Amino acid sequence: MSQPDPHKPQPLYPGAVSCINSGWCCKQGPCPFGEWDAARHQCAFLTADNKCGKYDEILASGQGALSPAFGAGCCSSLNPDRAKLIVAARLQLIKNKS
Ligand code: SF4
Ligand code: SF4
Repeated sequence: MSQPDPHKPQPLYPGAVSCINSGWCCKQGPCPFGEWDAARHQCAFLTADNKCGKYDEILASGQGALSPAFGAGCCSSLNPDRAKLIVAARLQLIKNKS
C-alpha cells in the first residue's frame, strides 16, 4: 500500500465529513504544532476566519498527514459551531431560492 504524501493535504477519509472551518477543534486544544492562548481560549495560530495560521508550515514539515491530518476530514461532525454554520448556510440557501 502506498504511503500518503506528507506534503499534501490528505484525501477525505471514507465516512469522514469535510472540515467547514468552524474552528471548533482548535478552540478545544492545540494540535502538536499549536500554542494555547488562554485569554482567547483557542490556539494562538487560529485566524479570525477560522483557518490555521501555520497551514503551509505544517505541510512543509512533512507532518501534516499525521497531525492535524489536514484534509482527512472532520471527526467532530456534531460540534455545535459546525452545526450552527450548516444551519445558517441552509437558511441562506432557502432565502436565496424564495
Ligand atoms: S471541528 Fe471539524 S469542521 Fe471544525 S475546524 Fe475542526 S475539522 Fe473543521
Ligand atoms: S496549529 Fe493550526 S491546526 Fe494546530 S491547533 Fe493551531 S490553528 Fe489548529
